[in-house]
Amino acid sequence: MNNKGIFITGTDTDIGKTTATLVLGWLLQDRGVNVGIMKPVQCAGNDAEFLKRSLKIDDVIEKINPYFAKEPLSPHLAFQRQKTQINIDKIIDSFEHLKKKYDIVLVEGAGGLLAPLKEDYFIADLVKDLNCELIIIARLGLGTINHTLLTLQQARDRGIPIKGILFNEIKKAKHGIPEKTNPDIIEKIGAVPILGFIPYLKRFDQKEITKACRPLIDVKSLMKNSFKDKAGRLARWDQKYVWHPFTQMKDWLNQEPLVIDEAQGNYLIDTQGNRYLDGISSLWVNLHGHRKREMDQAIKSQIDKMSHSTLLGLSNTPAIELAKRLVDIAPRGLEKVFYSDNGSTAVEVALKIAYQYWQNKGKKKKTKIVHLANSYHGDTLGSVSVGGIDLFHKVYRKLIFKTIAVEFPDFYRAPKGKTYPHYTEECLKCLENLFKESHATIAAFIVEPIVQAAAGMIVWPHGLLKKMRELCTRYDIFLIADEVATGFGRTGKMFACEHEGIAPDFLCLAKGMTGGYLPLAATLTTKRIFDGFLFDYQEQKTFFHGHTYTGNPLACAAALASLDIFEKERILAVLQPKIKFLAEKLKMFYNLRHVGQVRQKGFMVGIE
Ligand code: PMP
Repeated sequence: MNNKGIFITGTDTDIGKTTATLVLGWLLQDRGVNVGIMKPVQCAGNDAEFLKRSLKIDDVIEKINPYFAKEPLSPHLAFQRQKTQINIDKIIDSFEHLKKKYDIVLVEGAGGLLAPLKEDYFIADLVKDLNCELIIIARLGLGTINHTLLTLQQARDRGIPIKGILFNEIKKAKHGIPEKTNPDIIEKIGAVPILGFIPYLKRFDQKEITKACRPLIDVKSLMKNSFKDKAGRLARWDQKYVWHPFTQMKDWLNQEPLVIDEAQGNYLIDTQGNRYLDGISSLWVNLHGHRKREMDQAIKSQIDKMSHSTLLGLSNTPAIELAKRLVDIAPRGLEKVFYSDNGSTAVEVALKIAYQYWQNKGKKKKTKIVHLANSYHGDTLGSVSVGGIDLFHKVYRKLIFKTIAVEFPDFYRAPKGKTYPHYTEECLKCLENLFKESHATIAAFIVEPIVQAAAGMIVWPHGLLKKMRELCTRYDIFLIADEVATGFGRTGKMFACEHEGIAPDFLCLAKGMTGGYLPLAATLTTKRIFDGFLFDYQEQKTFFHGHTYTGNPLACAAALASLDIFEKERILAVLQPKIKFLAEKLKMFYNLRHVGQVRQKGFMVGIE
């Protein structure tokens, strides 16, 4: 059986969660299931000890119950009063440890789903973080419909999978109309399985209770492994229907796909509940962690207002607000924002505007684009044209437009005898000669400033970007800075151009702009370039370009929320000691025989 957790919560406190956990534990043991238990947080009482003893479990109590408070209060208060900080990772670690050991781990909550463990963290959040299925323990009598349906709604709103409702008779009472009819009506209105009923228990005798409860509770459904069923189904469908990017599907079809179902903080969680550190930040986009409360809330609030309206002929509130915020934080002179959906389109837009600007201005020969050898700017045909990674581009050679590639001083792969700083100067000289000879035919020069990301996190030699900016200015060639990968703090500054105090003529942004939540891109440019498109309509010098979801309000709301987090949490300041720490830790790779070079700029790292 696949390891899994079942979280036991109640519709209220004192609903008999511990009794229910014990009964379920005994019934599962009766079926030969290896059951573990956990009571992550306990305020007074001895529930954890009682369960451990009654179920004959040998784990140390600290694993079963990592957090104990003396006073019988809500956890947020009980732990605050005894000055204990609840560390959720510690709870998750204990749970993961238990999951490895047992077929099923029964996790008993504290209070109901909205009992706070901290002021901004509820039991419901813990259920999500532990990736458990939920059993709701409810009373039988009057009032239970309301409480049970409210609990169900909370669970569903948060996407918690529900195993079912288990009724518990905490007091000996006559079964009147409510007791007899409530389960049926809850099953019907709540569309939820009823797992059964625990009768009033006078004494805790294992044999007696197991015998009495066996016919009353659907234990089989507890053992049914919905995680495993779901995982298998999705894996099959993935291989049947999905074509993955940058993937040789022949290889893919020969292996079990890893299917991610949820995420939390820095972790991804697969369909079987396994957790993985999201080391590539879901392809360099996730900035503040997954399911960051402020991000989730901003998007939800925007959904309640409007999810999409076109920017073609109309405007919308988040798109306007974001444009202003981007201009405020961008290098000086970048004053106009053109939205699109992804990094490649951000580059396409810059290339097309740069090209058309010169056409609009009558400089018809200024049509060529210069780029760095080994550069990567995306996968649409325009951005492929300015890319230099042969593996990705070779096959499309006849489809893409001609460009001029210039050598980049990549010291690790430098031809023999080329060393710093002479190699940099040599490359610069080549660029200068090219510009001097051909500036009348060159529209723009595109770079990934400071770090060439897809090429292998190649960090630029210091001062090169500044000198390239000077050359572009001298020869009136637009500098396009593709900061799709480097933008939004990745290099330790908001934008990589800031490392050399320069401003490009175009700034391409995407990836991290929405904190890894939604696809959105922006191409920022100057007033000079914008003004180069202001003509009477009949002259047909409009920028005829736009995507259906250009300026999508949800994505813009996510980007605004991310920028708020940058400010509120002082992300760039907080990042600096982390960058130093990372640099320190990277030293351990230096001396490994199979490591050629370790490159770092901020939080972008390449190990050759
Ligand atoms: N430019 C750079 C520098 C990139 O790294 C990437 C993507 N890795 C792109 C453009 C293309 O972005 P997207 O995948 O969103 O089209």
